[in-house]
Amino acid sequence: MINETCVSCGKVRALKRASLYGWCRSCAKAGWREYYAQRRRKEKQRVQSERFKKNLRSHIRSAWTYHAVSQVSAAVRDNRLPRLSEVYIACVDCGKRATDWEHRDYTKPLDVAPCCRSCNSKRGNAYFPWHYPVTERSMKSIRRHLDAQRREEMKNNARNQA
Ligand SMILES: [Zn+2]
Ligand SMILES: [Zn+2]
Repeated sequence: MINETCVSCGKVRALKRASLYGWCRSCAKAGWREYYAQRRRKEKQRVQSERFKKNLRSHIRSAWTYHAVSQVSAAVRDNRLPRLSEVYIACVDCGKRATDWEHRDYTKPLDVAPCCRSCNSKRGNAYFPWHYPVTERSMKSIRRHLDAQRREEMKNNARNQA
């Protein structure tokens, strides 16, 4: 047994071996509590900052775009969608050769139309929801959102069939 003095409150306690940070249990608890409170404060500040608000919409949009585009390239890779560089498909808007799979709704990543580059840019941005909490803007939160939506749809389908 060794006697260790808590570096924070100065209480002496008997230990089998020295503790990692030299804090007694209650000081360690208080320390972690303070650490997490500080992190929450910082996150709140970040989310409320003007810069964050200004960039929020484009952050969320690019996360959704990235998600949808990667789903389409995965589909092309496993032949669930034709590869537009190899197969001639006409643009649904103007009839010229399509080069892009165009989204109207990023929550339906495989609901795409073949478009030429200029019609794609004419169509503008696809719909994306951004009503989830502003601190969640990662791919993870989007996947969770889509999974929840899919589960809801499956539930509704089951209800309709019954
Ligand atoms: Zn202590
Ligand atoms: Zn076109």
